[in-house]
Amino acid sequence: MKIHVPRESQAGEKRVALVPDVISKLTRAGFEVSIESSAGLGAGARDKDFVNAGAKVLSPSEAMASLTAADVLLSVQPLNVNQFKSLKRGAITISFLSPTTAASNIDAAAAAGVTAFSLELVPRISRAQSMDALTSQALCAGYRAALVAAELSPRFFPLLMTAAGTVTPANVLVLGAGVAGLQAIATARRLGAVVSAYDVRPSSADEVRSMGATFIDLELEAIEGAGGYAREMSEERAAKQRELLTPFITKSHVLITTAAVPGKPAPRLVTKEMYGAMVEGSVIVDLAAESGGNVEGSKPGEIVVTDNGVRIWGGKDVPSQLPFHASSLYARNVVNLLLLMVKDGALNLDFSDEIIDAAAVTHSGERRKASAK
Ligand code: NAD
Repeated sequence: MKIHVPRESQAGEKRVALVPDVISKLTRAGFEVSIESSAGLGAGARDKDFVNAGAKVLSPSEAMASLTAADVLLSVQPLNVNQFKSLKRGAITISFLSPTTAASNIDAAAAAGVTAFSLELVPRISRAQSMDALTSQALCAGYRAALVAAELSPRFFPLLMTAAGTVTPANVLVLGAGVAGLQAIATARRLGAVVSAYDVRPSSADEVRSMGATFIDLELEAIEGAGGYAREMSEERAAKQRELLTPFITKSHVLITTAAVPGKPAPRLVTKEMYGAMVEGSVIVDLAAESGGNVEGSKPGEIVVTDNGVRIWGGKDVPSQLPFHASSLYARNVVNLLLLMVKDGALNLDFSDEIIDAAAVTHSGERRKASAK
C-alpha cells in the first residue's frame, strides 16, 4: 500500500497533509509513505525529518511518478484536475473537497475512477471526532482571529491597575459561537478581554457561558438545522437581528465574526451602518471573508480601513497562518480516517460504515454525494 503526499500548490497554503510524527502509525499499518521534497517546509517539517521518520522524500519528477503509482493520495487542498487525471483507477484521495466549491475536481476524480474522500463530509458523530478536520482547522482559525484582533487593536485587552492609572479592559464581541467562535472567545478571555457572543443556535449559550463570556439573547426565533448546524435566515429575521445587534456592536472595541451555514455563502451579519458607529481604532476580524463575508466591505487577505477609522481584517487561509499545529492536527485527522479503511494489512472500503459512506464523494467512476456537510 503506497501513500503519496504531493507538495501543496495553492498560493498561501503552508500546511502539509502528513507531519513526521504520524509516519510511524502508517508504516506500522503496512503503508510505504512518500512525500514530495519541501512539502513540509511551510509547516516546519524538513525533508530530513520525514526521512528520519521513515518516509521517502522525492524530487518533483520522482514525485510525479509516485503520484501515478500511489494507492492513497493525501493533501490539504483538493488535487487539481490534471493530478486526478494521472492517478491510477481505484486510488483513494483524502483532502478538503467541498461539493460546493470543488465541483470540477470532483468530476475529474469520478472520471478517473478514483475514490475521493471529502473531509467536509465526515459526519459530526462522536466516533468521527478524531477525523474531523473542519473542527481542528476552525480551532486554529478562531485562536488566530483573537490574536490578530489583539495585535491590531490600539488598546490593551486586559484590565490593568498601574501606578499611572487603571486601564479598562477591551470589550470583544464574537458573532457565531461554533468551533472557531468558541476558540476566539477562549483566547480573548485568556488575554483578559470582557467578551460577549451571539449565535442563532440557543444550544451555544451554555458553551459561551462556560468560556467565561456573556451570551447575548436577542429573543429571536432559534435557527437550528440538521446535525447541530445553523440554517439560512429569512431576510426579515436577518434585518431584525442586525437591528438588535447594532447597540452591542457600537460599544465593542473588537468584533470577531465567524458565522457560517453549511453549503451556503456566509450570512451577512454586519452592515456599514452598523460599524459606522464604532469608535475610531476599533477592529473587526471577519473569519468568513473568503466565503462571502459576514461583514459588508471585508476583503479576504486585506485590512480595509473605513471612513470612521475602523480596521476590518478579512480572513484568508487563516488556519494556514498557524501552519505547524494546523498541519499536525490535520495529519492526525487524515491518518485516523485512512486507518478506518485498513483491514488485515490491506485497503478495504466498507461502505456500510457511515463515516466511509458519508465522506466518499466519488467511487467506481461515479459521483456519490450532491451536497456539503
Ligand atoms: P459553522 O462553521 O457551520 O458555523 C459557525 C457558527 O455560525 C455556528 O455556531 C452557527 O450556528 C453560527 N451562525 C450561522 N448563522 C448565523 C447567524 N446568522 N448569526 C449568528 N451566528 C450564526 O459551525 P461549526 O463551528 O463547524 O459547528 C457548529 C455545530 O457543530 C456546533 O453545534 C458544534 O458543537 C457542532 N460540532 C459537533 C461536532 C461533533 O459532534 N463531532 C464537531 C464539531 C462541531
